[in-house]
Amino acid sequence: MYNPIELSKKTEELVVKDELKKYYRFRPAGFYGGIATADTVGCNLRCKFCWSSQSVWDAKNTGEFYSPRDVAERLQRIADSKGYHQLRISGGEPTIGRQHLLEVLEALPRRYAFILETNGLLLGCDKDYVHALSFYPQLHVRVCLKGADSEEFSLFTGANQGFDFQMKALQLLQEYQMNFNIALVSTNLVKKQDFFKRLEDLGLGSVMLEEEEIQLYPLVKKRLLQEQLLHYFE
Ligand code: SF4
Repeated sequence: MYNPIELSKKTEELVVKDELKKYYRFRPAGFYGGIATADTVGCNLRCKFCWSSQSVWDAKNTGEFYSPRDVAERLQRIADSKGYHQLRISGGEPTIGRQHLLEVLEALPRRYAFILETNGLLLGCDKDYVHALSFYPQLHVRVCLKGADSEEFSLFTGANQGFDFQMKALQLLQEYQMNFNIALVSTNLVKKQDFFKRLEDLGLGSVMLEEEEIQLYPLVKKRLLQEQLLHYFE
């Protein structure tokens, strides 16, 4: 077990240098009907079903440093060449490197929608971060919940805490009236029902929720098999 907040700090030391951050790829992607994607390096979780490989597990030796302006320009170039109106950062956890992310958003024209795909941990433990993001109306935050409660979160991620930060992130996004939705990974019907009830109790019952389907790429399948978790997802 590891502490994901400590892992965030260690990862930030590897992938963020002043306002620069590491990325390993820029690409057009078919998700959301077409979106320009910058794949970043480094994450504060180690989800056993993660499709990213070296970018999460070997951040030190993966990717190159890019300035916020460079990232913004590359995303725009891809979007314009493909006729997309949406941009995102994927591959790792985009909220690691707060100043970098805010500067990327600042450098982007607001005619593009920006989808922030995050596990929410760093938002849930830093209200100021959510406040700072609330100044970007083009932002849609997709919070990917790794399990429907603390127990399932630890089973899927190997982390000793973090689920409560994810829930807190949802509450803060609601408080700042931001555009957001929930993507839930859970394989337990009872836990899911309890989770839906918890959302209702927190006033989050009307937030759009999608159930995330885990893609069983060969690497993911192998890792889930080693962790004796494959049967949950097949
Ligand atoms: S939060 Fe996302 S990028 Fe990070 S380990 Fe989990 S699935 Fe991979």
